[in-house]
Amino acid sequence: MGDPAYLSADVVAFRDTFRSFLAAEVVPHLPEWERARRVPREFWLAMGRSGFLCPWLAEADGGSAAPFGFSVVILEELGRTGFMGVQTGVSVHSDVVVPYLDQLLTGDLRLRWLPACASGQAITAIGMTEPGAGSDLAAIRTTAVREGDEYVINGQKTFISNGIDCDLIVVVAKTYPTAEPRHSGISLLLVEEGRPGFVKSRQLEKMGQHCQDTAEIFFEDCRVPAVNLLGEAGRGFHYLMRNLQRERLMISITAQAAAEQILDKALAYAKERRAFGKAIGNFQHNSFKLAELATEVELGRTFLDAVIDEFTAGEDITRRVSMAKWWISDLANKVAYEAVQLHGGYGYMQEYPVSRDYTDVRVLPIYAGSNEIMKLILARMMGLDDRDRE
Ligand SMILES: Cc1cc2nc3c(=O)[nH]c(=O)nc-3n(C[C@H](O)[C@H](O)[C@H](O)COP(=O)(O)OP(=O)(O)OC[C@H]3O[C@@H](n4cnc5c(N)ncnc54)[C@H](O)[C@@H]3O)c2cc1C
Repeated sequence: MGDPAYLSADVVAFRDTFRSFLAAEVVPHLPEWERARRVPREFWLAMGRSGFLCPWLAEADGGSAAPFGFSVVILEELGRTGFMGVQTGVSVHSDVVVPYLDQLLTGDLRLRWLPACASGQAITAIGMTEPGAGSDLAAIRTTAVREGDEYVINGQKTFISNGIDCDLIVVVAKTYPTAEPRHSGISLLLVEEGRPGFVKSRQLEKMGQHCQDTAEIFFEDCRVPAVNLLGEAGRGFHYLMRNLQRERLMISITAQAAAEQILDKALAYAKERRAFGKAIGNFQHNSFKLAELATEVELGRTFLDAVIDEFTAGEDITRRVSMAKWWISDLANKVAYEAVQLHGGYGYMQEYPVSRDYTDVRVLPIYAGSNEIMKLILARMMGLDDRDRE
């Protein structure tokens, strides 16, 4: 079988360039950033200088109009460093938030912010989740009330990736709080760092993905000009649903890259570690386990590559990306679990990378729409609807 269409010769050559960049400028610092629970601004600026942030943006907006394969490779290679936090931070910026800005920002705001996003001078975040509303997004309580030429935002967001370091946040808020159906009152607004009432409250202590900040944020009578409304009022949910497919694809790519690199580590260890006079990988239980995992990892790769090509061709991937997101993120967790088991006590020690892998991948089935929500979407597409009907 040949390479998938997205993996062109240019993309393969670019992968080598990006690997060299990571090896020289990023990998040596990752343990330190992991301990500091943050990556420094210099990392973002270095990525931006070399064209590794939002490469898909048009040249006029500061990007290089790179095909989607370049974004795939950037994500995979960041993941292969074995420090998933740095990968999440970049992906949220380049693949999740900036696409909203590209689609919906106009006028001076567009001219000002898109090039800054590509250069790393502006780091972005998105605030959907609230303490009382995660999967059930339409239940959000943050409001943005129009007063003259401004919107006044009030509410609380939690679990926000890049929340502390961000210069810009796309806030999901209700401009029509009493609208029915509930999702029809949702809008997206851009809030810049420094606006009074935009309060970055607390960096949250996570189980894993430490070299990346995740924060709690408050909006207390935060005023933004009406031009900061992204797109049309009341269309926020529609914009979110459109872009979440890409976000779920990025999580599937992240999960697949994780499964592959963790399996590599498990196999290498199984060949090297000896017990009862032979390498532990030669015990049939372990060799069969590795053979099963290798099969599933390859199935994941084949399916994922097909979905990436479908996305690149502009097809609607809602159904198949929902499948990829739940199945591959569960697979990454299964591989991590077995990799720790194969490492024995060493797998439980933080100095062994599989211990970090184990905690880093745990969030994949939870965010970007939990795996249960993926199955809900699929069930509904199969005509199985849990919603009450008259
Ligand atoms: C590290 C991290 C980073 C994140 N980054 C961001 C970010 O940048 N921006 C942002 O807005 N959010 C972010 N999130 C939030 C994330 O998207 C939510 O945690 C996720 O959507 C789940 O919402 P919840 O935590 O409120 O769980 P709940 O919605 O309370 O769900 C709890 C459990 O119930 C299940 N469940 C819920 N509804 C159903 C149903 N109908 N049927 C079956 N099961 C159901 C869920 O699958 C889950 O297992 C992040 C979360 C984490 C952990």
